[in-house]
Amino acid sequence: MSFEVTILGTSSATPTLSRHPTSQYLVCNNQRILLDCGEGAQMQMLRYGIKMFRIDKIFISHLHPDHYLGLPGYLSTLSLKGRIEPIHVYAPAGMGEILDVHFRHGAIHLTYDLHIHELPSSENFEVIYQDSGLEVSCFALEHRLPCWGFLFKEKKSPFKINEDVIAEKKIPVKAFSYLKKGEDFIDDNGILYSVEECTIPNLPAVSYAYITDTIYLPALAENLRNRDITLLYHEATFMEDLRHKAIETYHSTTLQAANFALKSNAKKLLIGHFSSRYNDLSGLLAEARSVFPFTELAEEGNTFTI
Ligand SMILES: [Zn+2]
Ligand SMILES: [Zn+2]
Repeated sequence: MSFEVTILGTSSATPTLSRHPTSQYLVCNNQRILLDCGEGAQMQMLRYGIKMFRIDKIFISHLHPDHYLGLPGYLSTLSLKGRIEPIHVYAPAGMGEILDVHFRHGAIHLTYDLHIHELPSSENFEVIYQDSGLEVSCFALEHRLPCWGFLFKEKKSPFKINEDVIAEKKIPVKAFSYLKKGEDFIDDNGILYSVEECTIPNLPAVSYAYITDTIYLPALAENLRNRDITLLYHEATFMEDLRHKAIETYHSTTLQAANFALKSNAKKLLIGHFSSRYNDLSGLLAEARSVFPFTELAEEGNTFTI
């Protein structure tokens, strides 16, 4: 089982020769997910060996072009390759219309079903997808236009079957689901398989919070405090000396991202969405680490295990 994120693009509004607009590839156990799809995301997936045909969910934070311009091309490629399995896009209102214009004027007839799920307008955390192993919720950020953050949370039982006692106690397969729920199981012959004997504590569930394109929101950090954030991605478009610029453009600085990580009690911070004015990113990293030492740069091609 794995939970990991690969950075495909980490530049703010304009690309540079070494950085692409925002996109991330997220693996949540058996789920393959794309987070934002800036221009060039397809090329980046090819470059880093991402199996782009296995992705079936795409989450778009907002409708600034640096976060979705790669999407029409990517969806068209899937169709050209004859994809049949449906794709789900979770995006702000307007995404469907934008894609429709591309497909209509380009006479593109998708070979698969494209489901567009409009993100809810409510400010609070709202669950927008869940299955037996994953829960995804969205929440409002504050940017120049409506923008959402996403929280990906692993769902797992606190109990794990103890492999060492399966054979020894001849635990029937039927008992597994009860034991994982923390319930004892008694078979037809009255034999008891207790949680205490048959299970061991599972590793804690992990989570990933994705926060891009926003002004600094300390109240949101407080709200995340009790949600056990294993890895936090927070935009850090500017260094601290350009705080006025961050406020003016509804973005955040390195120190604000680091303070957000502190307040939200995240275990680790990834900063990204860097302004094209920075060639060398070491200053941004040093500044963030001065407040929150467990900070890393979201550099393209890097994979972070959550
Ligand atoms: Zn952006
Ligand atoms: Zn933006």
